[in-house]
Amino acid sequence: MSYENKEKIICIGAGASGLFFALNCADERHEVILIDGNAKAGRKMYISGKGRCNITNDCEVKEFINNVVRNPRFLYSAINRFKPADTITFFNEHDCPLKTERGNRVFPVSDRSADIIDTLVRECKKKKVKLLFEEIVKKIEKTDNGFKVICKNNEYDCDKLVIATGGLSYPSTGSTGDGYEFARSFGHKIIELKSALCPLRIKEKITKEMYDLTLKNVSLTATNDHFRKSIFGDLEFLTGSITGPIALSMSSLINREDNIRLTLDLKPALDEEKLDKRLLREIENNPNKDVRYLLTTLLPKEFIPFFLNNTATDPDVVLNSMTKIMRKQLLNDFKRFRLDYISVESIDKGIVTSGGVDVKEIDPKTMESKLCEGLFFIGEVLDVDAFTGGFNLQIALSTAYSCAMAIKE
Ligand SMILES: Cc1cc2nc3c(=O)[nH]c(=O)nc-3n(C[C@H](O)[C@H](O)[C@H](O)COP(=O)(O)OP(=O)(O)OC[C@H]3O[C@@H](n4cnc5c(N)ncnc54)[C@H](O)[C@@H]3O)c2cc1C
Repeated sequence: MSYENKEKIICIGAGASGLFFALNCADERHEVILIDGNAKAGRKMYISGKGRCNITNDCEVKEFINNVVRNPRFLYSAINRFKPADTITFFNEHDCPLKTERGNRVFPVSDRSADIIDTLVRECKKKKVKLLFEEIVKKIEKTDNGFKVICKNNEYDCDKLVIATGGLSYPSTGSTGDGYEFARSFGHKIIELKSALCPLRIKEKITKEMYDLTLKNVSLTATNDHFRKSIFGDLEFLTGSITGPIALSMSSLINREDNIRLTLDLKPALDEEKLDKRLLREIENNPNKDVRYLLTTLLPKEFIPFFLNNTATDPDVVLNSMTKIMRKQLLNDFKRFRLDYISVESIDKGIVTSGGVDVKEIDPKTMESKLCEGLFFIGEVLDVDAFTGGFNLQIALSTAYSCAMAIKE
């Protein structure tokens, strides 16, 4: 033990997990020093939820776990120990009232992510956590009694060390992947890093008028020889990629798959029989109009040029001269519109990083390394990630809480 017989703990990273760890761990027996390379805490949280910070998802543990993509079972104990309901209570009781929106997404009533960060920093200060900013950790060494944390200008000793350095995405927020190197230096395996919750790059040219378009209630399917998954919801377009909730979720599922084929069902509410009847009805009612008109009755106008560019549909065919084969082909294009998939977007554009410190080497109850006593990993640096909806921040908070309690117990 160090100075004043207090156990001295250094946590690297003052993001969601580091801040929450520090305020829960610091007490009369535990001195906590929080080190971050940035000038301020919570840079990534600041931009989260489009600046509103979707801090958790107000759901039961079982549903929560269903929304975790990688290593849900590892998180079972941490999420049970600090549940979404506990997050809601914490912020409500610390002058940061929360509200629940569509899909159980929880935000601060103020719609300001800064209020979430201010609450965490204020509580850290109340608990006398030492916050050291603009201090980039370069190296960690094991000492006889603990660890030496080597920064550019200073060195710090501690009894226990918590690594809360985040993932690799949005590196401008400070998460540049250093935590993986620290983990490797202690012999930890790093599961290959992939971009998750990111746009999907496609070969088709996306026209300008599509940038503001949301294709509502469509179904995106990804398949290869051993994988098939469909996700229903809204799709949006960027230069060279598709995005929006269903593309982001799909990216988390296919970021480790090869030879993926993507198709869109543009009318998932109508099965093939019903869609065929609908086409026949339009044809009967408008015999002298053309296929272009027929498309306007079924698709948003901004999408029609893209549809025509990427199918064999002839827009000038008059409806009363449409053959059965042509109608069946059109039906097929509606139900299985092909998108030529390239890959998931680069890791810096992902909302989270998939992969990271192999959880097989981490105790799920305490977040302590099984390879090095006194070393802990929390938050996104671990090989865990979830869908959008507040799940990723809750993972940061729950793993941080479990770690803090383990150190105190
Ligand atoms: C655009 C965007 C929107 C998001 N929106 C949401 C949302 O609404 N809801 C949700 O649940 N999740 C959201 N996420 C994901 C969520 O923000 C992260 O999963 C979460 O912040 C991870 O917390 P963390 O503490 O593990 O890492 P971070 O919050 O990334 O914190 C890591 C900290 O470590 C510091 N650090 C790293 N290396 C060093 C070093 N060598 N020395 C010193 N300091 C270092 C960094 O400066 C950083 O402050 C979003 C992510 C992005 C990019």
